[in-house]
Order: sequence, then structure tokens, then C-alpha cells
Amino acid sequence: MAERLLIRALKGGQNTKIITLNGKKLTKMPSTLEKLPGLRTLNLQNNQIPKVCPELSTLTQLTALNLGNNLLEEVPEEMKYLTSLKKLHLFGNRIDRFASGACDGLQNLILLNLNNNRLTWLPEEISRLRSLKYMSINHNQLASLPAELCLLENLSELQLNYNKLVCIPEEIKLLKKLHKLLLVRNNIETFPPGLCDLTKLRILDVAGNNIQVFPPKFQNLKLREFYCEDNPLLLMTPIVTIQQEDIWSLQEIASRFVMNQLTEENSFVTQAIELYPQIRSIISRGKKCTICGKFFLTVWLECVQFAPPSKNCKISRNLQLIPLQVFVCSYRCFTQRGDNLFGIVEA
Ligand SMILES: [Zn+2]
Repeated sequence: MAERLLIRALKGGQNTKIITLNGKKLTKMPSTLEKLPGLRTLNLQNNQIPKVCPELSTLTQLTALNLGNNLLEEVPEEMKYLTSLKKLHLFGNRIDRFASGACDGLQNLILLNLNNNRLTWLPEEISRLRSLKYMSINHNQLASLPAELCLLENLSELQLNYNKLVCIPEEIKLLKKLHKLLLVRNNIETFPPGLCDLTKLRILDVAGNNIQVFPPKFQNLKLREFYCEDNPLLLMTPIVTIQQEDIWSLQEIASRFVMNQLTEENSFVTQAIELYPQIRSIISRGKKCTICGKFFLTVWLECVQFAPPSKNCKISRNLQLIPLQVFVCSYRCFTQRGDNLFGIVEA
């Protein structure tokens, strides 16, 4: 039947650039496709196709392929021959894996839609889709993301709503062109500080996660829309704390000294540190005190600061203040804090 329908669709002659066989109950792809090497658009949406045909690999001029709402179980290997492909729709299948090599030839792919499938992981090879701008993998079972995803430097829109993500990679900061990031209904608890380096990010939706507090430089983001309803955000409830100053370890005292001398550009310390990679690695974990601005190694106290969202940003209803994570170096600094800073006490 597939062949008959294709022939009918070909009334326009073999120079036809577009074939649409939407909702025709096809159970296989028409293999006569190989007679159409100039085909640009192939729409086989809403059929019952479990597998692509090998002849698909001859369609090297194809720029748009829609196999949405079929019965595919993998992103097929044949995709690697579709070197002109710009838009690939595979939503609403049963896909739980990428065939090996599937990403190899898709250097021109701009849009990938894998919504409503069964993916639990993404392959590292996803980084080969280097022209990709729009990626949508909503309603899958993703539990983690490979760091290689963050090598897609042209990515502008990333939709990962309704998955099982608990975190996002620190490398997210490499997605310099990211404009829209949607992470609704996952299990995310914390964001990597690198998120705050995304200077192009304008839309962030993290509704329905397990977020209590946002990273320290969150206010650096220039968001136009920010949604975070249904998260256990920390609320502004003051707690009186009386805590004695801890006795610092020798490592803490030495690290604080070295780090603060380095910021003052002490030339002796700057030169000496070059010879001690181990010390450089230790102090790379240093943090800056929100109150006095000095560096320290071991967090004396994690606090939360409540900041108003920026004025021109559309936000969740009910969101008046955003809880931001901040660090304080000592009890002395903690006692000098403003009204807006609270210690976090483990419940
Ligand atoms: Zn301090």
C-alpha cells in the first residue's frame, strides 16, 4: 500500500520536492523513495512505522523529515546519511536509544524533536550535531545529561520538561547562545554555579522541581521570564543563632592567608605558588565571603539572601523574593550581616 500511495503522491512527477503521507496507517516506509534523490521534505507523521527502510539513506538532499507518532524504537543509524537534514521530528515514538553512528552525518541539523519517547540517557555523540539550535526532549525518562551536550555551542533553545533529571552539568556554562531553558517537572535540587554565566539566557522555567535556593550569582542573569512555582523554596523566616567561633585548622589559616595575599597581588606569594600545584588545587576550592569579601576555604556558614526579581522580568505569581545561596567566612561577619541574610539551619 505504501508504494501505491507514494505513486499517487508523485503525481507531480519525479521532480517532486515534498511528499506528505500523513495518517495513512502505513506499517512500512515506501522503498521506492530511492527513485527520488532530489526530495527535500518527507512527512510520514501519524502512521505505524516500526523501522525506517534502508533506501532512506539515498535521500541526501532531504532537509526535513517528520516521523512523529510512529512506532520507532531507536533513532535509526540511517540518519547519518541525511547530511542535508535541518529538521528532524521523531516525537511520539517508542525510542529508548540512539543507534550507534546515528548522529555522525547530521552536521546541518538545526531542530531535533524527540518529545514523548522513552529515552533514559543521551549518547556522548550528541555533540556531533554541531549546528543544532532547537532541541526538545520533553516527556521522556532522562535521569542525567552527558557533559558533551554542552558542546553544542549553537544551541539556543533546550526543552527537557517532564524527565527525571536530578542535576544539570556544570558545563552548561559552555552553551553561550542558550536563550531558553525549560526544565519543568524534574527532580532537580541544585543548579551549578555555571548556570549564572549564561549571559544570553532570557527564559528559564524550573517549575515543579526540588529547588530550595538558587546559586550565588543568579542575579547576574538577564532573564525576561522566570518561573519556579512548585518548588520547596526557602522562605524568609528569621532564626536566632548563637554559635561560637570555630577553631580553624592549620590548612584553613594557611589557605586564607595565601588566597587573600594573592588578591592583594603579593608578588612573593604569587611567584611562590607557581611551584606548588597541590596548593593551587586546594585554594581553587576557595569561596568569597559575602560580607567582608575575603576568601576562605571551609564554609563557616551557608546563608540565604532574599533578592527581589529584576523589574522587567515576567515571573511566577506569588514569587516576591528569590532565595540565593551565599557564604559567610566567620561568626564575626555573620553578626555584621544585613536584615536580608539568614543562616540556614538543617531541619
Ligand atoms: Zn567575612
